[in-house]
This record gives sequence, C-alpha cells and structure tokens, in this order.
Amino acid sequence: MNSLRERDITYLKGVGPKRAELLGKELGIKSFRDLLYHFPSHYIDRKTMYRIAQFSGEMPYVQVQGRFVSFNVLGEGAKMRLVGLFTDGERTMEVVWFRQIKTLKTAYNIGATYILFGKPTLFNGHWSMAHPEIDTPGAPGALQGLRGVYPLTERLRNQGITSRTLFLWTQNALASVREIREFLPPEVLTQYSLMPLREALVTIHNPKDNDSLQRAKLRLKFEELLLLQINIQKYSRHRKAQAQGYYFPRVGTFFNRFYSECLPFELTGAQKRVIKEIRADMITGRQMNRLVQGDVGSGKTMVALLTMLIAVDNGYQAALMAPTEILAQQHFDSLRQMLAPIGVNVRLLTGSTRKKQRDEIHAQLQDGSLHILVGTHALIEDNVQFARLGMAVIDEQHRFGVAQRAKMWKKSQIAPHVLVMTATPIPRTLAMTVYGDLDVSVIDELPPGRKPVQTLLRYDNRRHDVMRGIGKQLAQGRQVYIVYPLIEENKDLDLKSLEEGYEFIKETFPSYRVAFVHGRMKPAEKDFQMQLFASHQADILVATTVIEVGVNVPNASTMVIENAERFGLSQLHQLRGRVGRGADQSYCILMTKFNIASETRKRLEIMTSTTDGFVVAEADLKMRGPGDIEGTMQSGIPFDLHIANLATDGPIVEMARNSAAALLDDDPDLARPEHYPLRQALLHAQGPAIDWSRIS
Ligand code: ADP
Ligand code: MG
Repeated sequence: MNSLRERDITYLKGVGPKRAELLGKELGIKSFRDLLYHFPSHYIDRKTMYRIAQFSGEMPYVQVQGRFVSFNVLGEGAKMRLVGLFTDGERTMEVVWFRQIKTLKTAYNIGATYILFGKPTLFNGHWSMAHPEIDTPGAPGALQGLRGVYPLTERLRNQGITSRTLFLWTQNALASVREIREFLPPEVLTQYSLMPLREALVTIHNPKDNDSLQRAKLRLKFEELLLLQINIQKYSRHRKAQAQGYYFPRVGTFFNRFYSECLPFELTGAQKRVIKEIRADMITGRQMNRLVQGDVGSGKTMVALLTMLIAVDNGYQAALMAPTEILAQQHFDSLRQMLAPIGVNVRLLTGSTRKKQRDEIHAQLQDGSLHILVGTHALIEDNVQFARLGMAVIDEQHRFGVAQRAKMWKKSQIAPHVLVMTATPIPRTLAMTVYGDLDVSVIDELPPGRKPVQTLLRYDNRRHDVMRGIGKQLAQGRQVYIVYPLIEENKDLDLKSLEEGYEFIKETFPSYRVAFVHGRMKPAEKDFQMQLFASHQADILVATTVIEVGVNVPNASTMVIENAERFGLSQLHQLRGRVGRGADQSYCILMTKFNIASETRKRLEIMTSTTDGFVVAEADLKMRGPGDIEGTMQSGIPFDLHIANLATDGPIVEMARNSAAALLDDDPDLARPEHYPLRQALLHAQGPAIDWSRIS
C-alpha cells in the first residue's frame, strides 16, 4: 500500500497528465496527500435553498433550484457570452458564461431540474449569476450540509477546474485509499480528544455539520503546529546541549560602582527582573541567546549597559550594534556619558569613522584596552577583531537581516553571549513560534511618571487646527516631529511632498528653526540635521521614517504623521514612541485625507484607542496575518502554515507546544518504535530555517 505522499495525482480518477501538470504548477499539488491537504478556505451552507425573490445585494454564494427556459449566444469576440434564462417557477434570472461557450451551449437540457450555486448580482434591475456550479438534484455533493470553497487560481478556472471539481477529486481520492495512516501517538490523540486523521480529512472536505468541522480543523491545525513545535524544540534542545558559552560569575567593580554611584534613576521592577534573568544566564556555562522585548521607552538601553558591564567585569569586551548611524551615535553618547566617571573605555565605529580613529580602535580592540564598542554594521566587517569578545548586544533586531547577524563573530572560538533587544512587541503566540529557540525576557513596565501619549486622528481639512496646536507646543519650548512616508527608490513624488511639507512648515513657523532629514541624504548630512534637533538647536524636525528607530529626544512632545494610512500599525507605534519620553503630556497626530476606507479607519482607530504595544501588535497580526509582521518578514521564517493561524489559534499553539515538550522529554529523538510514524511525518515538515546560534 503506497502512502498518500507517494501516490501521484496524475493517476487520480478524473485528473490525467495535463491537469496534473496544471495542478502542480498552480497549487503545488503533486500527490494525493497534497490534494487532501489543500483545504477549503471557507464553507457555504448548502442546506438552505433560496428563491430568486429572496436575493439581495449582500448575499454570498447561494443555491436556487429550477429550470432553464432558453440559451442564447450574445455579443461577439471578447464580448461573446452564453446567456441562459433560468426560472424557479416564480421569477427568472439570467445565467451567464463567458468561457467554454461551445461546450456549455449543449450541456444542459431545457426543462430539466437543476440546482444552481453561485453569487447573485443585480444588473439593470435583473438578477444574474455568472459561472454557477450546476448540480442535478440527488447527485453526489448536491444539497450537502456544508460545502467547502477551495482556493483556486485564474488559470485553473479558465481550464474549467472549479471548487466543485476539487471537491469531487478529494472524494475520489478518499474513496481510493483504504488506509490513511495515523501518525500522532495514541496518547496525544486521547489527551487532547483529537479526531483521527482519516476522519479529519473526510470531514474537512465534506463536513456533516459545523461541530464535526470544528473538530476536524482542530485536529489538522494541531498536527501542523505540533510538527513545527517539535522541530523548533528539538533544535533548541540540541543547541542548548551543545553551545558552550563564557562563564561570567563575577559582578565586579564596574557594575557595582556604576550601580551605586552613577545610576541616574531607580530601575523599574521589570528592568531589575530582566537583569536578573540575564545574570542567571551568565553562570550556566552555556551561550546566552536572549531576546529582550520592551515597548518603546521601556528602558532597554540601561539593561544593555548593565549587561555589558558584567562582561567587562569578567575581563571581556562587549559590542553594541545598532541599525542606524544616528542610533549608534546616540547610544555611544549616552553610554560614554554614563560610563566615563568609572573609567570604562567606550568607542564608536560606524561607516563614517575616520581612518585614524579606526586604526586606533582596531589597536585597542586587539590589546584589550577597549571595553565596549558601539557601532552600526561596520562592526561586522572582517577586519574588526576583538581580542576577547564576550557579549554582543543587538539593538532593534528587526532591522538586521539574518544573514548579516550570522556574519558576526563567527571567527571567534567560543561564541559570545547574545542579547537581542527589540521594541517590536511580538505577540506571545508568534514569539513562541518564531523565537521558540530564543529565551525571551519582557520589560513590561514603563519608567514611572510617564503620561500616555494622546493620539488623535485628523483629516487634512483640519490642518489649520493642527498647526495651531503645534504652535502652542513650540511656544512652551517643546519640540515637534513631522513625519512623511518613506522615500523609496525613485519615488520622486514622495520627495516632492516631503520638500513641500518642509517649505510649508518653515513658512508657517518662521520664528522657529526647522531641521530636515530623509533617507536619501548622505549619512553625515543626516547626522548633522538629527544632531540639530537632538541638541535643541532645531525646534521642528521634518523627516521620513529614518527617525523611527530608537531616537531619544525627551523634550519632543508632538509627533505629526502625514499620510498615516500608508504606515503599518507597528510602524506607527514605533514612531509614536519617539514622543512621551518626558514627564509632560505628549501628542501624536495621525493625518489622513478625508475619504479613507473604513478598514483603514478601523486600523488607525486602534492607534487612537491604545498605547499598549502588545495590543497594537496583536491587532496588526489579526488584520494583516503573521507573514506581514515587520521583522518576521525580514527574518525569513517559514510561515507556510496551511491551516493554523498564529494570530487566532493561540490556544492550539500552546497545546502543541506543551505536547511537543512532553513527547521530547519522554523520547528525545523520537526513536521509539511507536513514534516511527511521527518521525516520518517530521521528515516532511518544516523546521526552523535559521540557525539562531550562528547569530554569534
Ligand atoms: P527603549 O527601550 O525604547 O530603548 P530607552 O532605553 O531609550 O528606551 O529609554 C527611554 C528613556 O527612559 C531614556 O531617556 C532613559 O534614560 C529613560 N529611562 C530608562 N529607564 C528608566 C527608569 N528606570 N526610570 C526613569 N527613566 C528611565
Ligand atoms: Mg532603544
């Protein structure tokens, strides 16, 4: 008996070589298994029979029973169509075909009873249905409870392959394979009361009722997530067993002196907790791979600083890598200022560091006198060689591609500990999957005394009011950001609106100083402009999203975001995080044109209703799907989930995670004979594509 995977779709009844090729190309369906795992995207209730008189404009697909009265071919060339007049005995509607006219003209008998299934549309006061599915009453598949609607492509439709065709093929496939082998261990099936595999496949393609459909879905989602979790966890267990790391037992002079003499504020409870977690990692003898998640403004920099001091106290060097020159500069300034009193040597290395300084840095790295090196990806260039790199901190990791990170320090023998800091709040379910392999710490508390940023949605026609509000803030000595959508390659239009905006602001506020920065400027010019704003030599900064990440100007109280509808929610949240960093009330104003779609409006209203980054991220995930979440996209994690949805299936992710852990605790290599089918299934399942331990 061949397995489902080995059975070629070509030999399924009704398919054949030509259609097999098409199925393979269009949907990746090559085997019986592929077909049976091509699930309906949604279902339509086929229990209800409609009358034409009941049709209304908002109806999805409906079915109606009746007879054809006539067929006529109308129009010519590309406009040629076949029109059938169809009556349910009470009213009539038109049935229209634009393809396969010749065949269809004689396919149905006038006067015979048919069930039509399609979407009614109202045209010139008459109802019509284009390309409906047509059944004879009593035929298989007709008048079932729920009928699946399968994802298809235009090319398949053009070849006459419909949702109904796929349905019939799945039925043929299920009828021709007697045994579908269960691969989940019996104890797992029992523990979670899961439907056996064959029953689940039968049900998902042809559900009797909604209850059994839900149980089938649960089973199939669970198996998908379980395989993914087993892969991730096997991998992470392996890494933890293997990756030797530096042992940093000491909390020494630097850390203690800084803590008692230089700490500019009391740490928040969350900061203290995360530092503790990191310190615990330092004494395991294994490499730390920890992600610190903390909303914008939660104080990640201080956590990085203290972490790096632990390395320095133990005689090692530390590196802090930031995604932009501006941010690297800012980290450098604040670290140097805080650490100078206790004699820690901090240097900055970026693309624009002069040769002379660069040579000096290289020499100090080699002789060990340089304690902490801050920089951009200039840090991962080949000629940068640390004598004793013990700790690498990567800030705002979503800006770094995986390949870039993987390049860091792979030459060193023992990999340094790695701390990745991100302000992109990744919802728990996603984190459990994406970072199943990293340990995660969360700074879930903001420093005291912060007032939540007030977020307002304003249409262009209220620009005047907005400008007046800005004027008030400026008069109080506060600073203001005005942000335009990113300038993409060759988007002259964007540049134009940015430049016009800049001119407009200068005219509106002639007595204030305006800085101007965008991504196409030379780094030095960009820095100069940013510096003007950071040092309050400028009151207003007109900018693109180059300021999105990390910039810290506590005196800035207002952020205006132009064309807010063009930004993703997570991005808006990042931008908003630039204000509200001082003790005074801050504002974020989302400007849009007047007639935005209601979807867009809903999205933006999430911003006005909450300042909690996790809530924003959850909403973003639900609205856009996990594949779009910033960062995961760039990290290239395979989110090729067929049926499970990380945004909405949180509880199932958790079930799968627990189940995977229990299985691996019990049988780490799944080597036992009763786990053989599961092991086989794993061979084909996706694993983590990324070797996280090679980050270092
Ligand atoms: P982010 O997590 O976004 O990187 P930063 O580290 O830039 O946040 O911190 C934001 C601001 O909050 C900085 O001005 C920093 O000095 C300040 N800050 C950090 N921790 C505390 C604290 N525990 N109490 C008061 N202010 C703090
Ligand atoms: Mg930061």
